[in-house]
Amino acid sequence: MRFTGRGAPKTPRESRREVLDRISPASLELAWLRQIHSNRVLEAQPGLTAEGDALWTDQRGLALCIATADCVPIVIAAADRVATVHAGWRGIIAGIVSAAVDVFPEPARLTAWIGPAIGACCYEVGEDVATRIAESASPKVINANTGHRPHADLSKAVEIQLSRLGVEDIRRLGECTACDCDRLWSYRREGPGAGRNLTFAWISE
Ligand SMILES: [Zn+2]
Repeated sequence: MRFTGRGAPKTPRESRREVLDRISPASLELAWLRQIHSNRVLEAQPGLTAEGDALWTDQRGLALCIATADCVPIVIAAADRVATVHAGWRGIIAGIVSAAVDVFPEPARLTAWIGPAIGACCYEVGEDVATRIAESASPKVINANTGHRPHADLSKAVEIQLSRLGVEDIRRLGECTACDCDRLWSYRREGPGAGRNLTFAWISE
């Protein structure tokens, strides 16, 4: 959902709260991170948990939130535990996906949703970054035949990593954030002033 409007700029807490209250049927507590493109996975606490790039909880009534604007948002869930992950190219090569799957005892019983991120259509990277992304997943995630610099498919890299970790049920909701200017924010398209796409996950009652 893309909200714009005039008025005083909202704090991260206010903007997350406003969106969550629109989509949630119940009153939920909210947990989020100061995201740093790392492989740090944290057990969620209400409010700003800490610095890191994935949150998990087995507490009902606590909604986890990840903010992205081209990076890949991921939700991973078992029957009694849920995690949200922020995975850009740095996190993907640092191992954030594997670190997040590690908080679940049985990877084969997980469902993972890969949310909207920048697509290979729009994600041009340098040769060095392309090589590192390919090494972390597969050469298949790099399209080198574009005439200029290579293009990388971050969502595909995440999907390959999840599959290798034993996750069988993987669902891609993939629109390209840079192409879909009506519904999604994109850092590549809008620059540092871009808004953020918010991904929430919680265990329902
Ligand atoms: Zn695109």
